[in-house]
Amino acid sequence: MSETKENYIRKVDFMEVALRDAHQSLLATRMTTPDILGIAHVLDTIGFWSLEVWGGATFDSCLRFLKEDPWERLKKLRKSYKHSRLQMLLRGQNLVGYRHYADDVVEKFIDLSVNNGIDVFRIFDSLNDFRNIRKSVEAVKKRKKIAEATICYTTSPVHTNELFTKMALELAEMGADTIAIKDMAGLLSPIKAYELVSMIKKVVNLPIHVHSHSTSGFAPMSLLKAVEGGADIIDTAISSMCCGTSHPPTESMVFTLSEMGYDVDLDLEKLKEVADYFKIVRKKYKAFESEYTNINTDVLVTQVPGGMMSNLANQLKEQNALDKMDEVLYEVPQVREDLGFPPLVTPTSQIIGTQAALNVITGEKYKVITSETKNYLKGYYGKAPAAINEDVRKRALGDEEFITVRPADLLAPELSQNIDKIKEFITGDEDIMSYILFPQISIEFFKDRKDGKLPDYTAKSGEGEYSSDMSNGLVLSNEFAEAEEFREGDLVPSEFIVTVHGENYKIKIAGVGHKADQKRPFFLNVDGTMEEVTIESLTEVVPSYGGEIVGENIARSKRPSPKREGDVYAPMPGRITKLLVKKGDLVNAGDTVLIVEAMKMENEIHTPIDGIIKEIYVKEGDMANPDETLVYVE
Ligand code: MN
Repeated sequence: MSETKENYIRKVDFMEVALRDAHQSLLATRMTTPDILGIAHVLDTIGFWSLEVWGGATFDSCLRFLKEDPWERLKKLRKSYKHSRLQMLLRGQNLVGYRHYADDVVEKFIDLSVNNGIDVFRIFDSLNDFRNIRKSVEAVKKRKKIAEATICYTTSPVHTNELFTKMALELAEMGADTIAIKDMAGLLSPIKAYELVSMIKKVVNLPIHVHSHSTSGFAPMSLLKAVEGGADIIDTAISSMCCGTSHPPTESMVFTLSEMGYDVDLDLEKLKEVADYFKIVRKKYKAFESEYTNINTDVLVTQVPGGMMSNLANQLKEQNALDKMDEVLYEVPQVREDLGFPPLVTPTSQIIGTQAALNVITGEKYKVITSETKNYLKGYYGKAPAAINEDVRKRALGDEEFITVRPADLLAPELSQNIDKIKEFITGDEDIMSYILFPQISIEFFKDRKDGKLPDYTAKSGEGEYSSDMSNGLVLSNEFAEAEEFREGDLVPSEFIVTVHGENYKIKIAGVGHKADQKRPFFLNVDGTMEEVTIESLTEVVPSYGGEIVGENIARSKRPSPKREGDVYAPMPGRITKLLVKKGDLVNAGDTVLIVEAMKMENEIHTPIDGIIKEIYVKEGDMANPDETLVYVE
């Protein structure tokens, strides 16, 4: 299976992913702009085919957690990385969000991204339903930038190399400039990689760009074999940001491929400089490294990508059900089969992960079906790769119809929507775009910006000195590196949910300060925002520390525990977002009575029996717990 001699002088190009996927895979996408820019003077001169710098998670994380303007980041990147192609990951019609947007928004988003500095768009659809990427490909080509159309790699009875090759042909016909094979879960084995790339290369005359994660340990071998099969560009992460749920190490791949005789023109000395830089930077973000970033060969059985794994762990933690992790991992492939074997990538990974978690937590398959699962079954995300379990669809939709057209065909233009609400904050089209994509968190961000409350991240990057200016009350997690000596033993609990007056707060200990006046400051991350508290107020704020949740017990006392036949209750904790009945209403068994939001998904709660609404114990906005009756039907 080795190559012929003439192939050996073939050029192999690299995309460095340290600035996007590597910190997304290892550090929860928390790297701040100064750290991304701090090494530009070296990274920009090495000769990578492109640098991956932007994508859905970076956009979201910038606005939600870092309180950074993602567009500003891009502008700064463009300025600092003058010689490099800047690449972004685009979720097709979902852009950088979680739903389908109308075509006018897609076009405008790509326009703005080009204006601010993106050169290469890697465009994918989570179902490989290419109707959902066509519009983006066209928009990129209109701006004469590189449209890298993408095949999401996965394994299932229907996902054969023949099918993927057919997909590559379809993408070439669509006008793709390059074709990416995106193996987000690290499932692409070396032999499959070789076969797949060889097959595609035989029929498609375009550069093939291979992306894989080291999650299962395959990736360095698979990239090597992919190159032997004819791959032109591979994705790697600088060694200090590599491996595990991240990517194969850049330096080792450069060395190996050069030694094999490929034309690889990247300077190992300079790469060492980059590696040294990120060795220091990475330490700042230690608090965000989950325990699920190592190589885990379970993925070969569960097919759950690394990112999804840590998400699931967090969700289960929220539901106080972390002990159910193994059961959920077993449930994931079953839900996936019911849904017609979609690849596990955003947003299907979340839909399937949450549905699988609910199937386990509630103790009954599809007892609760999230709105997102329902929408998927309605066809709102596109066409599933294989047949959908019609029993499940029936259970979810009843007699409701499902669609077979391209989902965005049903969307009216969205650009001209009313923006009165945010008028006072708008500084340009980019703001409007952020608002369309993430309305809630954008408004919060705009307000903070207006009030001068955005954090200042201009710490000296990569030199081991970090700003400790905490005067604005927003304390940055990456400033706790200096408190490292406390990390090992002093901090026992690091994350918990606190309930105060029915409100849930997600609290994370992000760091500990130095002792002064017999007091030691703790820094808490409350729902993504940093707060400083003293050890005294910590024990006050955190009743769950000792296992007593005071506020919750008060709220609970008014609601009886579900014992009667007509007691309606939520099988998992969450917030009641909609109450659909009032006292005296007549309902039939199975009717939706209220909607509870849990794990970022909406869940319909149904009445178990026919009858009349006799008692309502809750209102919209309340928190619901599984051992409480919310509504009583007689
Ligand atoms: Mn990836």
